[in-house]
Amino acid sequence: MIISKAPTLTEQQLAEVEAVVGDFGCKIQVIYGAHRNIYAIIGDERSETMVNRLLGLDYVDRVDRMESVYKLMDARSDLAHHRIVIGGVEVGKEPFFIAGHCTIDPQNPGAFLETAAAVKEAGAHVIRGGVWKPRTSPHSYQGSARTMEVLLEARQVTGLPVIAEVMDETQLNVALEAKVDMLQIGTRNALNYTLLAEIGQRTAELGTPVLLKRGRHMGPVDEFISAAEYIVSNGNPNVIFCPRGTMPALDGYRNHPDESITPLLKDKSWAPVVDDPSHSVGRSKFVPACSLAAIAYGADGLIIETHVNPISGIGDDPKQAITPDVLKKLIRDARVVWGLRH
Ligand code: PEP
Ligand code: MN
Repeated sequence: MIISKAPTLTEQQLAEVEAVVGDFGCKIQVIYGAHRNIYAIIGDERSETMVNRLLGLDYVDRVDRMESVYKLMDARSDLAHHRIVIGGVEVGKEPFFIAGHCTIDPQNPGAFLETAAAVKEAGAHVIRGGVWKPRTSPHSYQGSARTMEVLLEARQVTGLPVIAEVMDETQLNVALEAKVDMLQIGTRNALNYTLLAEIGQRTAELGTPVLLKRGRHMGPVDEFISAAEYIVSNGNPNVIFCPRGTMPALDGYRNHPDESITPLLKDKSWAPVVDDPSHSVGRSKFVPACSLAAIAYGADGLIIETHVNPISGIGDDPKQAITPDVLKKLIRDARVVWGLRH
């Protein structure tokens, strides 16, 4: 749909517009209005080059596309009935919980194993543990591939699937070699299209579920969905959206909580949503309220930083990890809110 700056296009302008869309196999249908005309594009209007060429004409104000730019992630795509099953649990059929340390401390692997057992007991379905960490400061602990062994040990003793964040191809290789059950793409790589495409290709056969966090700089909803499209269009349909708060922060919180984006995501796409209240609010005392809000907004699950003794943890754990007791109550309450929705 082309909206011109003036109420109508001149004959010459219309011919020019028709020539541009014609190059992409489309036609123009003029809709005559009382005060202005609208120029509908008939055909597949998803070409970005076509839209950019139209926007380059100085008499064109806007081009609105009726069809979404993401073909596979669209709520109306053939994948709309696709279901993601992790550790025997279908995400979205019941509330889905991921919990564990922000960061696995190589000096204290015992704490991680204790947390893993405790979050299992609290009702978590997947254990999280940061092996490599994207840190704002290069002087902060960056993680270590050595802690992958600890993550795998937690999987072995609990029998639960595990998730780890990967930030590059080398880490992806290690994670795939270790047969990590779920991969996380953090907010800093949310728009790293080469990495997203690479992950889509490399996990195409295995179908390893990928938790894709939202870009932290207030990434628009369509940008978030298009990032997921990179993974899916490269062969792996098992993508889960993870809102985790955006910048600038709401004063007092680590980020601006964005659990409210879920109904929009659900309206536009079919993929499940697992919200991350820990990074969104960034303080353990706020996590339970944000978690319940996320479920009320329609999230299919939560990923929550949890630690048996947060104060002794590293990375984000001292400030934002909750204890397994708090997690247990939170899961119980989340199930109640879930029940109100269904
Ligand atoms: C994390 O999950 O610990 C993390 C670094 O997440 P984010 O990418 O959302 O900051
Ligand atoms: Mn963290």
